[in-house]
Amino acid sequence: MSNLFRLLPAVDLTLDALETMGGFGHLPRPLVRDLVNAFFDLCREDIKSGKINDSAQLDSEVLMPRLARFLRRASKPHFRRVLNATGVVVHTNMGRSLLAKDAVAAVVAACAHYSNLEFDLGTGERGSRYAHVEELLCRLTGAEAALVVNNNAAAVFIILDTLAKGREVVVSRGQLVEIGGSFRIPDVMARSGAHLKEVGTTNRTHLRDYEQAINENTAMLMKVHTSNFRVIGFTKEVGLAELKELGEKRGLPVYEDLGSGSLFDFSGLGLLSEPTVTQVVEDGADICSFSGDKVLGGPQAGIIVGAKKYLDRIKRNPLNRALRIDKMILAALEATLRLYLDPDLAAREVPTLAMIGAGPRSLKTKAIRLAAQIKKTLGSRVEISVRKGVSRVGGGAFPEQDLPTSLVALCPRGLQSVDALKAALLKTDPPLVGRIEWDAFCLDPRTLALDEFKLVVEALGQALE
Ligand SMILES: *Cc1c(COP(=O)(O)O)cnc(C)c1O
Repeated sequence: MSNLFRLLPAVDLTLDALETMGGFGHLPRPLVRDLVNAFFDLCREDIKSGKINDSAQLDSEVLMPRLARFLRRASKPHFRRVLNATGVVVHTNMGRSLLAKDAVAAVVAACAHYSNLEFDLGTGERGSRYAHVEELLCRLTGAEAALVVNNNAAAVFIILDTLAKGREVVVSRGQLVEIGGSFRIPDVMARSGAHLKEVGTTNRTHLRDYEQAINENTAMLMKVHTSNFRVIGFTKEVGLAELKELGEKRGLPVYEDLGSGSLFDFSGLGLLSEPTVTQVVEDGADICSFSGDKVLGGPQAGIIVGAKKYLDRIKRNPLNRALRIDKMILAALEATLRLYLDPDLAAREVPTLAMIGAGPRSLKTKAIRLAAQIKKTLGSRVEISVRKGVSRVGGGAFPEQDLPTSLVALCPRGLQSVDALKAALLKTDPPLVGRIEWDAFCLDPRTLALDEFKLVVEALGQALE
């Protein structure tokens, strides 16, 4: 055994050999050195455990290709692309929305060149970064003013901090939501210094509940979109129009946190109709906030629209500087919003809208095509079938609503279990994420692009080895 240890080559010689081999020149040398050391540590463990028990296993013809494979795998960036075959379109853990082509191009241009980010080309003086999208947002939503911050959580925070610090905000008990990542409306409110005044019950809240809660210390009436759940049965919520009437009578602003606000009317797609931001503004919300990367299909952002007198105060809040968006986000957002000027164009070009809008027939065709490609190369290793299934919008939009789809269902023919296949696919390049249904590993073509099918087949090939 001790002989085998001595056969391991020196690190410096190995680094030189790698250089001659080529293929790793783009990696920082200190990183390669650390990885080579880590590889030799593994080899030493294999010698100790008897997995390596023959000097032939340490010949450079054997060792170097193994090292190269190790380096390729271990030197990958931590943050990388995955194939989303879950059918969840706005998948928060996988980056929510994909940007439209125009938006991608705008991001690339914004970070490769200087820009008029905060430079007024009319006067040659300092300008505002928010001016680039404010007019567009007002045009699309009908609001008087607009402001964009880091995300919708930041929007909720700065709105409460500006308009309700040390005062009371009236909210229905049925709307005190927790969304993922421990964002809870009551907690955010506490942090902002506003005091929550809960009214009504979990399932029913009446206008008189709001009315009775108002006192001289009330700052605002707030509505929160119950994003990730639905209350059904014996329920009552107060509509925005009624709340607005009450707010006007008592001189209080009405704020609606829309969560995944939309600028697109989905009712034509067989989804329960949800009011668009434009409708909410029209119904009288004084302030309204929503995410940029949920069903809007843009970059991460928190969009605030509403009456100028409130937006002016929010804009002046020093917190704004801490929550501001960067130039790449701004570029992506403007490009995305411009597509919405023509709703048909947005439906085609904004990937989130196109994926939600994909119909059962086109998805079936797509599933059959994917199944055929998998069968061609891997047919001997997996059983493949196409079945009816459902996808989800995700991102807290349209909770509990099924989108009909067709799934490609896979069962390994060998000894590998479906669970083992699912686990192995997390280690492929790129990793492939799907779900298990009816004891099969299922791929939903809704969230896969046609030009990703080749990568899906390759990943499956690697995982089935
Ligand atoms: C998603 C959501 C938020 C937070 O939005 P982010 O953009 O993720 O910060 C806030 N409120 C509601 C109701 C939501 O659904």
